[in-house]
Amino acid sequence: MILSPAQYLLRIDDLCPTVSAERWQQFQSLIEEFRLHPILAVVPDNRDPELQVSPPDPAFWDGMRALEAAGAAIGLHGYQHLCATRGRSLVDLHRISEFAGIPAATQHAWIGEGIGILRGHGLNPNVWIAPRHGFDRNTLAALREEGILLLSDGFARVPFLQGGLTWIPQQLWAPVEKERGLWTICVHPNTARDAEIVVLRRFLAVHAAQFTSLDRVIFRFDPATLTLAERIHAVCALRRLKISHAAGPIRKLACFRSNNSA
Ligand SMILES: [Zn+2]
Repeated sequence: MILSPAQYLLRIDDLCPTVSAERWQQFQSLIEEFRLHPILAVVPDNRDPELQVSPPDPAFWDGMRALEAAGAAIGLHGYQHLCATRGRSLVDLHRISEFAGIPAATQHAWIGEGIGILRGHGLNPNVWIAPRHGFDRNTLAALREEGILLLSDGFARVPFLQGGLTWIPQQLWAPVEKERGLWTICVHPNTARDAEIVVLRRFLAVHAAQFTSLDRVIFRFDPATLTLAERIHAVCALRRLKISHAAGPIRKLACFRSNNSA
C-alpha cells in the first residue's frame, strides 16, 4: 500500500564523535524544534579522515543515547567507513565501498564488531545503513545472522521484503514535496551548507506533521515483496538518478555527488 498523503523519514548520516559540531548542533535544534524521530546513521569505529571534522566530542555517545530514548532509531553505518573495495552493490550507485565484494567471513566479523561497539555505548542498532550504498548478499546474510532485519536503502515508494530483510527506501538527499509514498531524506552534517539547512527548515515548517519514525513505519508495514509496478518504478528512479549524476551538477544531489558519501 502506498501511503497517501506522503510521509517522510529524516536520516542523518556519518555520525561519530568527530562529526562537524556546528552542523550537528543545527540538526539537533531542528530535531528538537519539530519533535522529529530521525534515523541516526552511526559509524561504530570511524577511521575515515573525511568524517574527522571537529575534535572528538566527549558527550557524543550520551547524546546518541538521549536521542534514542526520545524515539530516534540507531542505524549501523558500516564499520569503520573506510571505502576502499571495489564491488557491485545490490543498490548500484557506487563501485567503491566498504562492504560490497568483501569476503563473507570478514563482513560478518565487521558487522558483529560494529554492533558490539554500539551496544557497548548503550545503543540498540536495529537498521543497516551501508556507506556509499555498498552491500551485497553476503552483507544481508551477516545482518540476518546478527539479528538486524531492517535496512535503509532502495528507490521504491513503500517498504518491502528482499533477501530476508525489510528495506525502508531512501530516495532523497533534500526535501521534495511528494503526494504519496514513504520518502527518506538523507542529510550529511559534515557537508551540509547553510542553504540546505534553510531549505530543510522551511520544509519542516510546512510538513513536520508528515514526518514519521522507523518504529511507526514498521508497525504499519505488512511484510511483502514489491509488486512488479513498484519494482519498475524503483529501477526507473535509480536510472534517472544515475543519468542526472552523469549529466552534471544537481544541487539536491550535492552529497551524493561531492563526496560520494552516504
Ligand atoms: Zn557515510
